[in-house]
Amino acid sequence: MYKNGCCSCPGLGAFCERLFTSSKTEAEKSANTTKLETQIPPSSSVSEPEGEIYTALWPFQARADEELSFQEGEQFRICKREGDWWTAVKLDRNGSVTAKGVVPQNFLARRQTVKEQPWYFGTLNRFETQNLLMAPENGVGSFLLRHSEKDHIGCVLSVVNSDREVKHIKVHQNQNGSFYLEQSQMFQSLENLVEHYRRNSLRSGTRLTRPCTRPVPKPQDLSHQTVDDWELPKEEFTLEEELGKGYFADVYRGKWKGMVNVAIKILKSNESLSHREFLMETQILKKLRHRHLITLFAVCTSSTPFYIITELMEKGNLLNFLRGEEGQELEAPALTEMASQVADGMAYLEEQNSIHRDLAARNVLVGPNYICKVADFGLARIIKEPIYSSVDQKIPYKWCAPEAISHGRFSNKSDVWSFGVLLYEMFTYGGIPYPAFSNQEVYNLISSGYRMPVPNKCPSHIYDIMLMCWRNSADERPDFSELKKLLENLLDSNTESSYGTSDPAGGIS
Ligand code: ADP
Repeated sequence: MYKNGCCSCPGLGAFCERLFTSSKTEAEKSANTTKLETQIPPSSSVSEPEGEIYTALWPFQARADEELSFQEGEQFRICKREGDWWTAVKLDRNGSVTAKGVVPQNFLARRQTVKEQPWYFGTLNRFETQNLLMAPENGVGSFLLRHSEKDHIGCVLSVVNSDREVKHIKVHQNQNGSFYLEQSQMFQSLENLVEHYRRNSLRSGTRLTRPCTRPVPKPQDLSHQTVDDWELPKEEFTLEEELGKGYFADVYRGKWKGMVNVAIKILKSNESLSHREFLMETQILKKLRHRHLITLFAVCTSSTPFYIITELMEKGNLLNFLRGEEGQELEAPALTEMASQVADGMAYLEEQNSIHRDLAARNVLVGPNYICKVADFGLARIIKEPIYSSVDQKIPYKWCAPEAISHGRFSNKSDVWSFGVLLYEMFTYGGIPYPAFSNQEVYNLISSGYRMPVPNKCPSHIYDIMLMCWRNSADERPDFSELKKLLENLLDSNTESSYGTSDPAGGIS
């Protein structure tokens, strides 16, 4: 059944099914926004009859007509909110209007709210936090306040405790809205809590010193104009060094208009790639926005080869990352955290009724502070299918669920099977699945009930999750939202003392 590629393989026929059944709404675009806003009221409530006042937390350089450049600390009154780009007027010290234009909302914080504080970092996971705090410019006592990616954990104070250790302390809130680390010390606001622990030591003995250095955020789009109009001329992009060569594309680091760093994916010429279909698919992909999915910025399709422009992920693909020096040093909790990020991105795709069809470590990209983002979603059908069909060896059988190979039944649950293989890749630090077997042998093997053995050093609860993903019946496999919870629970059980209530102010791993 493997000999003649597409014709003899019903699985590949199914690549031609429609990939998406629904697109994303505006509401879900807020997946990236800080959750704390809805849970913690502003430290003082100020009514702004003529529009709310916001402060710039970082400088920004305008990238298109109508956008405003600004400096850190400048103030704005918001006139219109539209997605990630808002229309605002810039105010001088006396409150007089000096300019009007479009600004990226994630560079601003509402005045007199916790978001304006230099120590408030919004949603951040434990590993990103550790990496930020461990940067050389921070020292013992450097701290930040964040909202955990796990909703049930909520607000966390993270502080550098020694040269090599960051403590994560849960901030509790009682029914009256007061905040506390220890029940004996209540605070009306997070600002008061931080001030207190600047003057008095935490139970661990550390005192808060200076806020962690805060990285400049990436705007969500190349500019406000590319939100809707994102077919761009190739001339606006300059190619820099090659980042990778794939079966379907060569990828370069590049710049848009000489100022914004991007990844430029140049598709290999492909006769069967329909321009119309390509635009239709990318239209849907453009709307998918999540912290753990690669953002599609633009396409260039006025001539071949087509370009796909995405956000740049400095550390490249997860497979090579794990095989490299930095990846080899990661221990099980860090790998579990990264896997839970992938599950989070996939749970969002699942919610959107999107199927990836090619989930594997090679299609996950790694950014600063070990942030992982799923890439290449949605492109399997239009770009990869013709190549997979014509070059039989390229079919990723080792990642494919049996029903996808035999009957072309691709679904979120076949993606879950692939996720199990991705876990295997992660816990073998980039090992090849079914190393002793050829692509062709794998389908027969798994059909007869064979499953890969537990990798060396892989915790048994992670292997249990792999086995769940590889259940023969797709219905019996967990879905991604369950997988995300399972992985997060593992992380919590590893770090219970950090988030527990028994020793809240100092009880850290
Ligand atoms: P293909 O789909 O043709 O296999 P990929 O999209 O996997 O091509 O890209 C090939 C390689 O280029 C990846 O494995 C990765 O190392 C690199 N790459 C792709 N996209 C990015 C990106 N956004 N940022 C950084 N590196 C990237």
